Amino acid sequence: MLCEIMPSPIAHSVSGYILGKVVPLEHRKVSRHKTFYWQIYAVFVAIFADFDFIPQFITGERYHRGLTHSLSFTLGFSAIVALILSYLWKSSYKQIFLRTFIFYISHLCLDFFSEGRGIKLFLPFIDSFFRSPVIIFPGVHYSMGLWSYSHIVTITFELAYSVLLFFVVWFWQKNRSKKINNI
Ligand SMILES: [Zn+2]
Repeated sequence: MLCEIMPSPIAHSVSGYILGKVVPLEHRKVSRHKTFYWQIYAVFVAIFADFDFIPQFITGERYHRGLTHSLSFTLGFSAIVALILSYLWKSSYKQIFLRTFIFYISHLCLDFFSEGRGIKLFLPFIDSFFRSPVIIFPGVHYSMGLWSYSHIVTITFELAYSVLLFFVVWFWQKNRSKKINNI
C-alpha cells in the first residue's frame, strides 16, 4: 500500500480563495458573475497540482508530487491557461499569467512546508524531492484510510489556518476601505 502524506484540500482551497480576493481580476467591466467565476478559478488552480492522483490511481505508478508540483510545470500551466483565458475574457495576458502563477505556486509552497517526502520542485532537470527543513503543516496519512482518527489533528490545524487567513484578509480589507473613505 502506498504511504501518501499530504495536506488536505482544505488549506489549498482556502489559500486559493483568499488569493483570488487579494489579487482580483482587473478589467473595465468586472461583473458579479465574473468575480464569482474568478474565485472558483483561483480555487481550481490552487488545487490543480493534486490531480496527479488520478493517473496514480489508474496506473498504480507513483506520480504524486512529481511533475505537477514542479516550477517548470507551474510556468507552463500559467502560460497556456493565461493564453486561453485572456482570449476568452478579453483581458490582459500578463495579468492572468501572473495571477495564475500566484494561485498555482501557493500549492507548491504549502506542500513544501508540509510533512511528507516533499515535492519534485525542479523536474525535469533534477529528479529529487525537496522539502523545507521546517515543517508547518502536518499531513493527512491517506494510507490509513479516509476515516482515520489521525486526520483530526491535520484537519483541525488546517481549519485554524483557514480562520486565521480569513481574519487577516478581513482586517486588511477593512483597513483599506477605511483609508479609501478618508481620502
Ligand atoms: Zn500537492
